[in-house]
Amino acid sequence: MNETCDRCGPAVGAGYRVDRVGELYLCGQCASRHWPALSAQGWTFWPLGVHALAPQARAAVRGGPVPDAAWPLA
Ligand SMILES: [Zn+2]
Repeated sequence: MNETCDRCGPAVGAGYRVDRVGELYLCGQCASRHWPALSAQGWTFWPLGVHALAPQARAAVRGGPVPDAAWPLA
């Protein structure tokens, strides 16, 4: 696993993958800072290295009527 934080840049390794309509990678610091806002919009945080859930399982959990939005913090 060699992902880097989308907020901090390539110097910082990512600790979480965040997905909903796309994928983001965040370090632990960014994840904890943006977690409330992103999770409120339906983004799901996955610690990197944990890939146990199939996409179908995630789709079953999510799928609420959340309007699409671009990366909200850019
Ligand atoms: Zn970061």
